[in-house]
Parts: sequence; C-alpha cells; structure tokens
Amino acid sequence: MTRKFTRRQILAQAGVAVAAIHTLDPHEICCAMAADAKTADKDLFELKKVADGVYAAIAAPAFKVNCNAAVIVTDDGVVVVDSHSKPSAARAVYQQIQNVTNKPIRKIINTHFHWDHWQGNEVYAGANSGVEVVATERTRNNLSRPDSGNGGVSFVDKQISTVPKEIDQLKAEIAKESNPETKARLESNLRQAEAYLQELKPLKPALPTRTVSSTVTLQERGREIQLHVLGRAHTDGDLFIYLPKEKVVMTGDALIDWMPFLNDGYPEEWVQTLDALDKLDFTHIVPGHGNVLAKDQLVFFRGYLADLIAAVKKSAADGASVDEIKKAVGNQLAPKYERGMSKYPVGQYRDRVGLNVEMVYQKVVKKS
Ligand SMILES: [Zn+2]
Ligand SMILES: [Zn+2]
Repeated sequence: MTRKFTRRQILAQAGVAVAAIHTLDPHEICCAMAADAKTADKDLFELKKVADGVYAAIAAPAFKVNCNAAVIVTDDGVVVVDSHSKPSAARAVYQQIQNVTNKPIRKIINTHFHWDHWQGNEVYAGANSGVEVVATERTRNNLSRPDSGNGGVSFVDKQISTVPKEIDQLKAEIAKESNPETKARLESNLRQAEAYLQELKPLKPALPTRTVSSTVTLQERGREIQLHVLGRAHTDGDLFIYLPKEKVVMTGDALIDWMPFLNDGYPEEWVQTLDALDKLDFTHIVPGHGNVLAKDQLVFFRGYLADLIAAVKKSAADGASVDEIKKAVGNQLAPKYERGMSKYPVGQYRDRVGLNVEMVYQKVVKKS
C-alpha cells in the first residue's frame, strides 16, 4: 500500500517551517469562483463514455470546485487521472467506477499540483494495495515545496487558516442578503465551505510514488497510455495523458472549457506547448474543467492566449496603465471569446479576464 505521511511529516522532510503560512489572497485560489453553486452530493459527477473502457467523470460546477477525472479501464485494472479537491469527491467517483468495473485501481495520474486535482489521492491510494501515484518530477516537487502556488501540502495548511475567514464572510453576506435566491446560493456555498474545511483538517496527502521528466509510454495491459511532457503551460509540470489508439487526450488545466488560470502559468510557453499538443492525433479532449471537447477547442483556447498576450503587449507599448489595459483588452477580445469562455456558472470571461491581463502584464511585459 502507498505509504501515507502526515502533512507535517512531508513538510518536515522538505525542510520547511510548517508555521510559515501566509494569508491567502483570493486571487491565488485557482478555481474557486463565486459560483452559482447548487451541487447536491449525488450530482457531483457525471460519468461519460469517451471510448471503449475510457470515461470522463465530468464535475458539476460547485463553489468548492472539483476537477474532472478520466477513468481508463485496462485488462487487469483501472487508471484514474486526477482526484479532485477532496476525498469525498474522489469517493463519489470511485463508487461510479465500481458501477462499471470491479477491477482494482492500479494508478492515479495527477496532471499538475493544483489543489483541486490531487487532494482526493488518498482515497485511491487507500483503496487497493500497491497503487502508484504518477506525476511529473516538477509536480512532485511542487506538491512538497513550502510555497509553490495554488496547491501542494503547504497549501492545504494555508487553506485551513483561510477557509474559516471565508466562512465568516459568507455568514456576514447571508445576514444582510434580502434576495431569497441569492441567500439560498450563499447558504449552499457556506455549507460547502464548512464541509470542505472538515475534510481538509485530517487530509493525508498521497504524493507521487513515480515521476516522469520526459514523455514515456505506459504499457498497461491491453491499453497504451502515453504520458507527454510538452513544456511549461498552466504550471511548470503539466502532464498530458494520451491514448493513441482511442485518440483521446487528457489535458488537466492546460486546456479547459473555462477561462484559463494564469497565476502559476507561463503564458508565452503555454502557446508553444499547445502547438506541440496539436501535433498529436486525437479527436476527444477530456479537459480539467468543463465538458468533453472536440479537437477544435484547442484552436479557440490557444487563440485566446495568443491574442491576449499580443493585445496586452501592444497596449503596454502604447503607454497604457495596467488598469487601462484590463478594461481595454477585456472589451477588445470580448466579441471573439466572451461567449465561448462563459458556458458555465464558473470561470467565466468577465470573472477572469482582468486577472489574466494582470498576469500577462507581470509575466510577459515586465519581464521582457
Ligand atoms: Zn483546476
Ligand atoms: Zn490548475
């Protein structure tokens, strides 16, 4: 069985002072948006068949967001890609997996280190003996570093200190809200935040037991699974999982059906990494968030990033301030991207475009 350490042990191994927890800026939270969350437990995931023995567990929009999972059934077991933000979510998907196969879980693959993609690992690691947790070397490092961004062992502790403040804020908003619909939504968010905090406290991180630093092929019985390391994009350790026979790729958050989150990302390299992904022969994308997509979503998503970078650079060169660029570029790109980037109640165009502009300004304009 995968050995599980407490968070304190992991941080101590990494030579980290556990006490060094800084206050979380709301902008740092990858995917927690002020969502219109109305998620009931039974509606957490919808298992969709993508190919024979390959499924996408599509997460319903929620205040405490969950990523999608991909489920790949082999001749003698199951490989699961990503494990959501909390053990209860992973348990919900695990139950659904058991409805389609009673084969044991063999491997968990984490696409990147963000909180909403790995915090349920312990459920699978505890379900069967010898479960491997696979990620890139960089993701493994990010998961155990003291402050690597929006995920990892230290981020669990950070959330334990910040979610209570979020709960207080929700309570205050509920108290002064008069619209019954808004009040009900806030109350649902409050329940989710409280339940999430209770799950975070005893979390026992199941970290990668096997890492890759370049593209490799796994020969799982009856199934070829390629793990592609294509360059930096959403993080410095993104992993793309590709099934060449079935023509399916799992992209984590490097390609999603929402607005991208750039805070831990590398905007210009991201475009190149998507160009490398484009060279693979696939017809279906299981993204980190949103529904199963056709390959042409890559062109749309890449186009947004490329156009965003070009527009921010141009406005900056013209002497505009960051605030002016946020407004101008947000309006400038809206006709082409607002509709396609606002399909769900989370991660919409107007929610994120300002922050995207700010990140490109910091990471591309100021660094050049
Ligand atoms: Zn995510
Ligand atoms: Zn992410």
